[in-house]
Amino acid sequence: MELAEIILYTQKQRDNYVKRFEEALAIPSISTFPENRQYMLRMAEWLTAQMTAMGLENVSLMPTPNNPIVYGDWMHAPGKPTVLVYGHYDVQPADPLEEWDSPPFSPSVRGDYIYARGASDMKGQIFAQLMAVEALLGQSGQLPINVKYLIEGDEEVGSPPLENFIRTNKELLSCDAVLNCDSMIHGADAPSIVYALRGLAYFELTVSGPAKDVHSGMFGGIIRNPLNVLCEVLAGMHDAEGRITLPGFYDTVRLLSEDEREVLRQGPYSERYFMDLSGSPGLFGESGYSSMERLGARPALDINGIWGGFQGEGAKTVLPARAGAKFSMRLVADQQLDEVVKQLEAYLETAMPKECRYALSVHSLGPGAIMDRKAAPIQAAAKAMKLVFGKEPFFRREGASVPVVGMMQQQLGVDSLMLGFGLPDDGIHGPNERQSLPLLFKGIETYLHFMNILGS
Ligand SMILES: [Zn+2]
Repeated sequence: MELAEIILYTQKQRDNYVKRFEEALAIPSISTFPENRQYMLRMAEWLTAQMTAMGLENVSLMPTPNNPIVYGDWMHAPGKPTVLVYGHYDVQPADPLEEWDSPPFSPSVRGDYIYARGASDMKGQIFAQLMAVEALLGQSGQLPINVKYLIEGDEEVGSPPLENFIRTNKELLSCDAVLNCDSMIHGADAPSIVYALRGLAYFELTVSGPAKDVHSGMFGGIIRNPLNVLCEVLAGMHDAEGRITLPGFYDTVRLLSEDEREVLRQGPYSERYFMDLSGSPGLFGESGYSSMERLGARPALDINGIWGGFQGEGAKTVLPARAGAKFSMRLVADQQLDEVVKQLEAYLETAMPKECRYALSVHSLGPGAIMDRKAAPIQAAAKAMKLVFGKEPFFRREGASVPVVGMMQQQLGVDSLMLGFGLPDDGIHGPNERQSLPLLFKGIETYLHFMNILGS
């Protein structure tokens, strides 16, 4: 059967698909609540039932110390690429419930949108990909490529079992590329492809001085105030030009080529766009780069919280015994996590005065990732989007982190294609999360073209 006929078939399935999508959305698979464990299992079983019925093979729930991972495959396209589809079936909690216009686990279609927790992040995306495969297998009996599925149930709590699962199942998961559906596009009429993600290193620093809080009149000016020291040390991590001062910090940062700068300029990101999006009265960052370049291709360091001394109402002349801060770095391609920790330690060693003690702890370390824009899966996705949306997608680097992408590179040695059909204003993780239904159907169509192009 021709692809055009299969696309027509999926369009006629609208009511059927929406009804089945609603079934998935009605299951409160909130991974962070232990009391929702039964729903995690119900959601995983819902997926395996769908996958088995559509003709995928080796469909199974693979146990982990947390929630089971759903696996399945179809490997009957010899000589064709194998794509590992990644997704997650868990969702964020729905509170505050009173801010929802319809209950988060009673899916509600209003206008072009379906409202429910997990609609966009990311039951909608995994559902669209599955429906594309179901239509192909059901209507033509085969797929143009080989597919495997890894759908986890712990993404929203940081995927604790995932790295070990991938490491111990390398053979089972071996593939040519990962299709990561946990993604979005820039706008309903502005398709985009993310080809780079930043890493994240999160730290906590505490500084201590006198044995206990002391009177600032008795000791002010003769001992080190840990809060003053903390502020100076944190402020010293940047220079006036917005550059990070840790020794050697930029040594391995991959430089932007002229070619890539041109690619990034093509996105619809004006300076005004970032001001409006943030509500900030102005923009600031490392000199010599545009905001889009700073966001995706340059590292950043930000203080996330700071504490110490008197925080109550009124005044208290205290010189605090201790002060602390949480701060984190967004890291880019080629920065090594262990090197970055050493650079920070080296900075603290010289910046911290002898009259104070300090302790640094690492909360989390996750690598960044960059993919080859010219690689076959990304090019196939770009062509598929052009066919469905009628315009070329633009390429962009993402400032946030998707740890599983780095994990797949490290453990399986393969790049990920980020391809999902959520929108930035879908309200993921917030109240009234929604998914555009027309976009969901465009997603199904894009996945169909994508598999077809990649396999030919
Ligand atoms: Zn997600």
